[in-house]
Amino acid sequence: MTSPTTRSTSTDPTATPNAPVPPGQVLIFDADDTLWEMNQLFERVIEDYLDWLEHPTLDRTAIRRILDDIEAANAVAHGYGSKVFLRSLGECLEHLRARPATARERAEIDELAVALIEHRVELLPGVAQTLDTLGRRHQLRLLTKGDLEEQQRKIDVSNLAHHFAGIHIVAEKRVDTYVELTATHALEPARTWMIGNSPKSDINPARQAGMNAVFIPNQHTWVLEHDEVDPADTGVLRLDAFTDLLDHF
Ligand SMILES: [Mg+2]
Repeated sequence: MTSPTTRSTSTDPTATPNAPVPPGQVLIFDADDTLWEMNQLFERVIEDYLDWLEHPTLDRTAIRRILDDIEAANAVAHGYGSKVFLRSLGECLEHLRARPATARERAEIDELAVALIEHRVELLPGVAQTLDTLGRRHQLRLLTKGDLEEQQRKIDVSNLAHHFAGIHIVAEKRVDTYVELTATHALEPARTWMIGNSPKSDINPARQAGMNAVFIPNQHTWVLEHDEVDPADTGVLRLDAFTDLLDHF
């Protein structure tokens, strides 16, 4: 039996299953902020951007609120990724200065965001070794949302692609995304686990599609990915670190 209800006898959110699950599960991994740090890079750029703006009247919190609103609107209109992020930084500047950004300002913003533009990837601790071990026991897949080309480049430079039976890059992760994935690849939801840092994109829609989930919070998770995870849901395993997967799978 691999039903999640047999794996935890308590509704205590800190409770963990007593025994590892049997081999032959399908483990689907989120990428950004699960396999590698991503939002932290964006946060560093935003800090530098706020220093660079030096607004005469608005403080950092007020400017950050404006930028968050612009980012939320642009995510809906244009999706995710560094191109959309740069666009948001430019629009925030234009909003604050009440005029178009100059070519020089655009170049300076690009310079602030060089780590993002070059798609640098910093793996979280133990990720490569953990995937290597898990891959001998289970089928691994990767499911990431964002700009197709940008996500693919990060996967390429991560050197992790060989661990996965399938790599799926989608525009958004909604319930129907998970339902479609299980249907297309004949996955059995009860033996399938979505592993990620985002309640909104990874945990809650996967649960609604009938899968199990592993929630590994990342302290740098983007504000737009925040949501509640039902603490009474025994189908969600909550772990502190990626390497803790080895104790359960
Ligand atoms: Mg993520």
